[in-house]
Amino acid sequence: MTGGPGRAPSRAAGVATEGATAGVPPLAGMELAIFDKDGTLIDFHLMWSDWVRELGDRMAAANDERRLDAILHEVMGIDPASGRVLPHGGLAATPMVRLRAAVVRAVEAAGYANATAERLVAAGWHAPDPVLLARPVTDLPALFASLRAAGIRIAVATSDDRRPTERTLAHLDIADLVEALSCADDGHPVKPNPDAVHWICRTLGVAESRTAVIGDSPADLAMGRAAGAGLVVGVLTGVGDRATLASRADRVLESVADLVR
Ligand SMILES: [Mg+2]
Repeated sequence: MTGGPGRAPSRAAGVATEGATAGVPPLAGMELAIFDKDGTLIDFHLMWSDWVRELGDRMAAANDERRLDAILHEVMGIDPASGRVLPHGGLAATPMVRLRAAVVRAVEAAGYANATAERLVAAGWHAPDPVLLARPVTDLPALFASLRAAGIRIAVATSDDRRPTERTLAHLDIADLVEALSCADDGHPVKPNPDAVHWICRTLGVAESRTAVIGDSPADLAMGRAAGAGLVVGVLTGVGDRATLASRADRVLESVADLVR
């Protein structure tokens, strides 16, 4: 998005030692970046569309290769063209057990006997593993290494619990680069309450004014603002669109990848 023509090639893009002529790196002046996880580091949409595709593959294997993908996308609330999870669709708003029953009913409605519909869904159904399904929005080890090389420390504040968050960070090969982690079951009030940011800043000994908060949802940005963060950055890889985030953020980027471009 930014590295336009005429810009000198540089392996260390984003390292905050360049002159002002190269453009101000997004995190210039910051010593700490606090990231949200889902929708910010991980592509929420890809994760669920991958799961639904696997479900469709398994059901087709049990159904003489006849596919029921349109039905599955409809029930799950995934736009088949973009793979995006629709905000009020099944996956966004329905517990898993009810979603399974809804798929059975939809297959029946397509002309299958109840016993057949049950058999096909049973053949395909598997619990989603959010850790194994986690798809990073970019090369996170490289991004975090670039930030660290530029003198920026890294923390994560998430509404997910600690155990799955630690597993996910390990799976993504970034656990060692994250110095502080605030999770839903740690006891801090939930976003947009600023306590998680204050706790991380205190733990790492960095002032809020030298801290950037980066997230995909209005709650992330409101948390950063309420904490007095030096920079609040919205990213478009999750639930928030540009219009929603722009009024609440200092900057809106397509993705965290743009933090070092
Ligand atoms: Mg998020």
